[in-house]
Amino acid sequence: MEELSHWIDGKRVKGTSGRFADVFNPATGEVQARVPLASKDELDAAVASAAAAQPKWAATNPQRRARVMMEVVRLLNRDMDKLAEALSREHGKTIPDAKGDVQRGLEVIEFCIGAPHLLKGEFTDSAGPGIDMYSMRQPLGVAAGITPFNFPAMIPLWKMGPALAAGNAFVLKPSERDPSVPLMLAEIFQEAGLPDGVLQVVNGDKESVDAILDNPTIAAVGFVGSTPIAEYIYSRGCANGKRVQCFGGAKNHMIIMPDADLDQAADALVGAGYGAAGERCMAISVAVPVGDETADALIERLIPRIEKLKVGPYTAGNDVDYGPVVTAAARENILRLVQSGVDQGAKLVVDGRNFSLQGYEKGFFVGPHLFDHVRPDMDIYRKEIFGPVLSTVRAASYEEALSLAMDHEYGNGTAIYTRDGDAARDFAARVNVGMIGINVPIPVPLAYHTFGGWKKSAFGDLNQHGPDAFRFYTRTKTITSRWPSGIKEGSAFNFKAMD
Ligand code: NAD
Repeated sequence: MEELSHWIDGKRVKGTSGRFADVFNPATGEVQARVPLASKDELDAAVASAAAAQPKWAATNPQRRARVMMEVVRLLNRDMDKLAEALSREHGKTIPDAKGDVQRGLEVIEFCIGAPHLLKGEFTDSAGPGIDMYSMRQPLGVAAGITPFNFPAMIPLWKMGPALAAGNAFVLKPSERDPSVPLMLAEIFQEAGLPDGVLQVVNGDKESVDAILDNPTIAAVGFVGSTPIAEYIYSRGCANGKRVQCFGGAKNHMIIMPDADLDQAADALVGAGYGAAGERCMAISVAVPVGDETADALIERLIPRIEKLKVGPYTAGNDVDYGPVVTAAARENILRLVQSGVDQGAKLVVDGRNFSLQGYEKGFFVGPHLFDHVRPDMDIYRKEIFGPVLSTVRAASYEEALSLAMDHEYGNGTAIYTRDGDAARDFAARVNVGMIGINVPIPVPLAYHTFGGWKKSAFGDLNQHGPDAFRFYTRTKTITSRWPSGIKEGSAFNFKAMD
């Protein structure tokens, strides 16, 4: 069995803690590799050598750093097939979906090529007599990223791209469930010209995460994952004086107005609800049709579409709509929640509980489920299921539909399907959610905008990627300068205004 490694100082390095986690092929249920889980000492050593490498990288002019990003883009395109295959093998998503995962990360690296422009400060000529005032954005030093299993290429790239382009060293602690792609990304950055030590990949679990949070050299932590861990990392990281941004779980609602094109809405719901087996933080997990007539017509269109979904291994190519979920534990959790929905009185109109795939009986596949008549007090509505399960909550009016999205504790994404511009505009203006789709089911902002939810879906002030990422990974220094020739005033004891 393959033994994976860390990536330290430009090399694959074996773990020394003696602790490992199994890495599965979710399609077959087999353990295909084991990943080392770093000790605190291993993490601290990786941080120390990142700190030693960082000043020289920060002193490299921003255009040269941008050229490394340019080369990374070329290499990601060159290796797209290889990356997608490794990603699907450990995660389970289909190959086209895995390519999308790499592509959406690659686009953030493209944005980072603009670092020289993004890092420019401000300048005021003659802010006072003979006085100039200017600001600069400087890197923080060593930043760390802790990332989830569901986008093992995209989310590490969202974090490391802006951090590195801004002149920081970066320590990545990827998910222990699918660690191969992050290691391949580190090799790509090296091949692109990134100096050794500037990017470290330390595999691990809670022990290495806690070591990151307590390491005094690490100035900033970017996290993506579930909400309980996001809250934990935010509070412990902030208590230790770090700059922290944490992105958490989701329960994304799609409102379907009576005037919507229901075929279009049903297609959108099926793609957004079941794509990647529902393991996306921007998946739609709640459909909210407005009015019983809309609900009945929508359910009637959803059932045949859902029953036709093809579930299978990524190796089956284009014949598959979605693959297995990531682990046996994830599957059990999903099925337990489905059972709770049945027990609490929701109507299971598509039942995927007995799904089994011939030849892949040990794989972590979950059949598609559709619930109707879900109520807000049910566990399937309150909790993030993170599986191929769509819940329908019927609303009597637009205001009731809006309140459902507003009252839910999560606020990552939401969508409205309508032909009425007024309703769409009102929804976008009033809803307390970070990313809104109008006739778009998964409104993931592009790399040059920023990505982030509200409420329990995000902790911290700034979003991911786009201009916010450069603000997060730099700090501002403001300089007031005058040259002393001709200064004859002597000391000033009052708090001076500029004359
Ligand atoms: P997770 O919270 O289990 O793990 C995320 C990271 O935290 C991993 O690196 C993991 O090793 C680490 N971790 C896990 N338990 C820990 C603990 N007790 N102490 C310290 N560190 C710990 O999340 P996951 O299952 O990998 O990913 C799925 C979750 O991520 C979902 O909730 C999903 O909505 C969310 N997500 C959010 C976004 C977003 O941008 N808001 C994007 C993708 C995924």
